[in-house]
Amino acid sequence: MKRKLLEYLCCPDCAGQLELTEVLATEANEIIQGRLGCITCKSVFPIVRGVPRFVSRDLLEADKAATAASFGWQWQHFTHTDELYADQFLGWIAPVEPSFFKNKIVLEGGCGKGRHTELAARWGASEVVGVDLSAAVETAFAATRNLDNAHIIQADVYHLPLTRSFDYAFSVGVLHHLPDPRAGFRSLASRVKPGGHISAWVYGAENNQWITRYVNPVRKLTSRVDQRALLQFSKLPTGLMFLATKLIYGPLNQSVAGRKLAGHLFYNDYLNAISKFGWREQHTIVFDHLVAPTSHYISREEFAEWWNDVHATEVNIGWHNSNSWRGFGKL
Ligand SMILES: [Zn+2]
Repeated sequence: MKRKLLEYLCCPDCAGQLELTEVLATEANEIIQGRLGCITCKSVFPIVRGVPRFVSRDLLEADKAATAASFGWQWQHFTHTDELYADQFLGWIAPVEPSFFKNKIVLEGGCGKGRHTELAARWGASEVVGVDLSAAVETAFAATRNLDNAHIIQADVYHLPLTRSFDYAFSVGVLHHLPDPRAGFRSLASRVKPGGHISAWVYGAENNQWITRYVNPVRKLTSRVDQRALLQFSKLPTGLMFLATKLIYGPLNQSVAGRKLAGHLFYNDYLNAISKFGWREQHTIVFDHLVAPTSHYISREEFAEWWNDVHATEVNIGWHNSNSWRGFGKL
């Protein structure tokens, strides 16, 4: 933890000011081990392996903990990077462009292994704070510790230990895995300063009925299977998807005539988009779908209500890859 992160932290229990009460180990400009204390309610939060921790295991509801544990293991396992990540990220937060991050104080809700926190930092954010509930924060910290403007904390999106000091908050691919996605969105928005912006990307209900009908029942089983076994098992559906995207969807969409034909294929926009991905990235996507115990599919109507909830203006909602909603708005 870099000392300047303290400016943005507050007690998740009482919103009181936090102070650094103990520093046991440091490396370069990072506090590796130490303790934060609330001046008001005297709550104590440890800093472990460079990451301030605001989670108490026994307080987590079973489902939330299970999701976090699943993704934590996954994000520690899939630690490869992919040059397509930047393009993919920009697709999820459109119309936001890299230049938008310049000199902004940025919050990422659900940072996983930190790849978007890292991109935001590299694109010139003055500070970026990545929050995740899971053990993926270990990977995120390792990925971003050399960036002077990047910070990682382990915390619950519903109880953010952060003051309302952010110019921009974003969450991609995370809110729909929460027990109450809409409350998670409201919580993130509550940390953005008036006049700041927020982005969110979620699975759409539209066009995904086949997932709710066929994949969800499978997921109920697979989310309970040993993750190493699931990793092996998930190679089977990945193999089918990999062949279909590389041999059919990708090549067909190269030409005008082919695109016309491909338009009739199942899930064409999405499968064409991921036809550019290699095996590992496709494997990650399939595993991600099988491992999560909770997944909500949000309709456009419901998604629009989220933005009304937080009184956002200039709201821009877009349909992404014909299977998900992305939104951007001003608070
Ligand atoms: Zn407190």
